[in-house]
Amino acid sequence: MNALLSVSDKTGIVELARELHALGIKLISTGGTAKLLAEQGLPVTEVAEVTAFPEMLDGRVKTLHPKVHGGLLARRDVPEHMAALAAHGIDTIDLLVVNLYPFEATVAKPGCTLEDAIENIDIGGPAMVRSAAKNWKDVGVLTDASQYAGVLAELKSAGKLTDKTRFALSVAAFNRISQYDGAISDYLSALNFEEGNNTPSQQLFPAQSNGRFVKLQDLRYGENPHQQAAFYRDLYPAPGSLVTATQVQGKELSYNNIADADAAWECVKSFDAPACVIVKHANPCGVAVGANPLEAYSKAFQTDPTSAFGGIIAFNRPLDGVAAQQVSKQFVEVLMAPDFSVEALEVFKSKVNVRLLKIALPTGGSTAWDKGQNLVDVKRIGSGLLMQTADNHELQLADLKVVTTKQPTAEELQDLLFAWKVAKYVKSNAIVFCKGGMTMGVGAGQMSRLDSARIASIKAGHASLSLQGTAVASDAFFPFRDGLDVVVDAGATCVIQPGGSMRDQEVIDAANERGVAMVFSGVRHFRH
Ligand code: 5GP
Repeated sequence: MNALLSVSDKTGIVELARELHALGIKLISTGGTAKLLAEQGLPVTEVAEVTAFPEMLDGRVKTLHPKVHGGLLARRDVPEHMAALAAHGIDTIDLLVVNLYPFEATVAKPGCTLEDAIENIDIGGPAMVRSAAKNWKDVGVLTDASQYAGVLAELKSAGKLTDKTRFALSVAAFNRISQYDGAISDYLSALNFEEGNNTPSQQLFPAQSNGRFVKLQDLRYGENPHQQAAFYRDLYPAPGSLVTATQVQGKELSYNNIADADAAWECVKSFDAPACVIVKHANPCGVAVGANPLEAYSKAFQTDPTSAFGGIIAFNRPLDGVAAQQVSKQFVEVLMAPDFSVEALEVFKSKVNVRLLKIALPTGGSTAWDKGQNLVDVKRIGSGLLMQTADNHELQLADLKVVTTKQPTAEELQDLLFAWKVAKYVKSNAIVFCKGGMTMGVGAGQMSRLDSARIASIKAGHASLSLQGTAVASDAFFPFRDGLDVVVDAGATCVIQPGGSMRDQEVIDAANERGVAMVFSGVRHFRH
């Protein structure tokens, strides 16, 4: 049996080679790998010796030779193939161990030049991997150090690999090649080449999008029981995003659990103060900040106790025992937090169905990536995709423009900013009443802004909350004064909205007439 070893990442390769040698397998290897093995006292034949051709062009051509590819591709069960090998003095290669030039790590480094990237595109490695993977019935191909132990164990116990193992290795090899080529294609597609500029600039929406995802798990069913579903994550997920969560306990996550958990987590991590977000059907039905998780939860729950039943609850602080005690009094599907104290875990131990997800908060920093935000938002439509930059806009106090005679008080300004932050995570049309760092009424997902306003106020009534003196956020402008009248009738004393309507003046006049303060944010937060 012959093995060819050619690896950039040399982790575990000496140990593997030593064991293969002990099993009587002949070792063939490329320059750097051969040198390392020889230094460790292992008998190794250089590929250059096998091909009778030197490695050349700075290693660009090492293994691209019929003596290598013939040995990998020949079908052992086809006499003509074996006769051709014999006629040309080619030995079979039965085991291939290759990992590729580190293209992904190279382009991830800040300041990577196009030249660096190009030199790190492996040519001969993928070619060999493809040859071996195509001929999986006769050749075992290892493309990752994590495979070494299993393959060795099988070789030691049975003297050869099973068809099942070789097939699995082949699939893994093609996955790796596709991932590698995808990274090259993504990197190059995102470059804008300009004459005379050797470091092309990056563009956000390349001509081709590979959208490479890694499967996390199959799901029992999709949005409805008659739909099949699975859960994937980006190849390189943003730190602090839901897909990086660890499930600490509870039933398997469902499709709807994951969608709602994402909505809750995205919202809660946008707050600096201790916050709690309760989500039902992708909309927040209670959001609050407080001195601690218990206070934040108690306030968020008050907004809409009826809807909170069976909710998805997210905290941006470790969940402690007292808050956990309080939360455990309601029926909860999923609970998310950066951590759970021993006491909190104890509270939920007996509630075996409750899913606890531990997610690290983004590490901080000024870029969207550091903040754990997606850069690009994708929506699937029939046979196509819509892509846009994600809605990562953060409103600053200085962006606000007071348009009424009445100025909001400092306290009202706080509530307006809070309401605006929440409105961004509520499906359009969104109307959100807030006071004292908590939502008081949420109107979501209506085709008419007026109906969203009415629903928010009806829901506040059901929760026995008074909307007197509340701040209201509207995710898009009021096209007429009627929407404003509804929220003021309900008790609001200040309003935040983007502005920009043809009838802004009508709405401003109405606000002045009703004696409320109104500020324009200058941005819209449609969410569909
Ligand atoms: P070594 O460190 O052994 O000199 O090189 C190992 C690396 O070379 C592996 O990552 C392997 O994929 C790559 N490689 C093997 N053959 C060729 C070839 O013919 N051309 C290029 N560009 N890379 C190769």
